[in-house]
Amino acid sequence: ITPSATVRLDHRFAREFPEMAVPWKGEGAPEPQLLVLDEALAADLGLDPAWLRSPAGLDLLVGTGVPDGATPVAQAYSGHQFGGFNPGLGDGRALLLGELTASDGTLRDLHLKGSGRTPFARAGDGRAVIGPMLREYVISQAMNALGVPTTRSLAVVATGRAVQRETVLPGAVLARVASSHLRVGSFQYARATGDVDLLRRLADHAVSRHHPHAAQAGRPAVALYEAVVRAQAELVARWMLLGFVHGVMNTDNMTISGETIDYGPCAFLDVYDPAAVFSSIDHGGRYAYRNQPAVAEWNLARLAEALLPLFDDDQDRAVELAGEALKGFLPRFEEFWSAGMRAKLGVADSSDTQLATDLLDLLAVNQVDYTSFFRSLAGAARGDDTRVLDQFPDPAALTGWLARWKALAPDADRMDRANPVHIPRNHLVEEALAAATAGDLDPLAHLLEAVTDPYTEHSGRERYALGAPADFGTYRTFCGT
Ligand code: AMP
Ligand code: MG
Ligand code: MG
Repeated sequence: ITPSATVRLDHRFAREFPEMAVPWKGEGAPEPQLLVLDEALAADLGLDPAWLRSPAGLDLLVGTGVPDGATPVAQAYSGHQFGGFNPGLGDGRALLLGELTASDGTLRDLHLKGSGRTPFARAGDGRAVIGPMLREYVISQAMNALGVPTTRSLAVVATGRAVQRETVLPGAVLARVASSHLRVGSFQYARATGDVDLLRRLADHAVSRHHPHAAQAGRPAVALYEAVVRAQAELVARWMLLGFVHGVMNTDNMTISGETIDYGPCAFLDVYDPAAVFSSIDHGGRYAYRNQPAVAEWNLARLAEALLPLFDDDQDRAVELAGEALKGFLPRFEEFWSAGMRAKLGVADSSDTQLATDLLDLLAVNQVDYTSFFRSLAGAARGDDTRVLDQFPDPAALTGWLARWKALAPDADRMDRANPVHIPRNHLVEEALAAATAGDLDPLAHLLEAVTDPYTEHSGRERYALGAPADFGTYRTFCGT
C-alpha cells in the first residue's frame, strides 16, 4: 500500500493577518532523513505516520511540499530581548505551514524551524543543526509528559546539509506543533504599526483560539489579558516546581496560549541553586531561575502596554484596568506554586508555606540535588530516612526539618505523583545529542523512553534518575544554534 496524504492544512493566520505574514517556502533538503517522529502526536493531528516517513511526507516536514491550498508564511513579530525593544524580529528561520485540526477539534499550528532564510533572517543563515533541534524535541516531550503546557515536537529531519557554526555541523529541521504561535511580541508588533484595527483583530483571534470565554466579557480585551496573566502565572509556577530554567524569556518567547515556547538555552536544575543561570549569553543573570516569576510579570506589563488601546477609549482608565489585571499575577503564581509544593511534600492544604521555603533554604545551602531529593522524600514518609539523609553532607542539618514535616503525616503516594524520577538531565541530554550528531540514535531513544514516563521507577533506568556526575562541571547552554 502506498501511504497517501490527506493533509488538510488551513491557512487562517495567513488569511486573516496578511500584514503579519509573508508567504514563503522552505529551502528544502538535499538528503532528508527522518531522525525522530512522535507517531501519537501525528495520529492526533490526523497525519499518517507511514506517509510522513515517505518522500512526500519528508517534503512536508522540510517545507518544500505542501498540500494544495496551503499558504506557508513567515510570521512577523517584535520583542523585548534582554530588556531592549526590537521592533523587527519575526520568523528568521521558521515557517508556519498552516493549521491542522486535532482530534479534540481545536486548531494547531504546524510550524518548521530551520527551514531556510526568510525576509526576517537579518544576518542569520536560516538554518538549524541536529543537536539543538533534538534538544527541543527531547525537552518538549519531557515537559509534556510532566504535565507542563508546551509547544510540541512532531519530528526532526536531518537535511543532509553541512551548516557552518563554530564548526561545521549537520543541518536539521524541527516540525513543531502549537495551539498557536501568537506571542507577546506579536501584539507588540501589531501595536507598533499604529493600526488599532489590526490589534483588535489579533486580540479577537487570540480570544477565539485560546481564551474563548473572554468573548462574553464586558471588556473582551481586558478578559483576554487577565486570562494570559493567569495562564502565565500557572506556567511559571510549574517551571519553578520542576526546577526548569527557560533561559531566554524575551517577550517574543512568551506565548498568549500559556504554552512554553523556544527551548534554546533552557536547562533543569541539578543541585538547588536559586541563582542558577545556564545560558552563555545571559551575563547579568536576568533570566536566572529565581527571577522567572518577576520576568514573566514584567513581560506581561509589556503585553498590557500593547493592548492598552483596546482596554478603554480613555487611556488613563485603560492604564488602571491593566494595573488591576496585572495585580492578579503574583497571588495566582503563589497560590499555584504553594499548592504544587504541598503536593510535592504530601501535606494537607492548610499547612504553612514556611515549611517549603525552609526546606529550599536547606537544599540551597547544602547543594542538594532538587529532583532527587523530592523524589526520595517519599521514602522518608514511608519510614526510611536513609536516602534523604545521604544527600546531605551533614545529615544533622535536615533532622529538625524532617521531624517537623513528619508531624504532618505526609502522604507518600501523593508525593510519588508530584515528584518526577526522570527529568531530562543536562548530562544525559548532552550525551544523547552528541551521539545523535555522530550518527547513533540509540541513547536518544533510551532517554526519550525515560523522560516520557517521568513518574515511574523502572529497573534498568536507574542512571536516568541520577544527578549530574561530579566531573560534569558547570553547564552552559546556547541560543540560536
Ligand atoms: P530566539 O533567540 O530563538 O528567540 O530567536 C530570536 C530571533 O532570531 C528570531 O527572530 C529568530 O527567527 C532569529 N534567528 C535565530 N537564529 C536564526 C538563524 N540561524 N537564521 C535566521 N534567523 C535566526
Ligand atoms: Mg524565539
Ligand atoms: Mg530560539
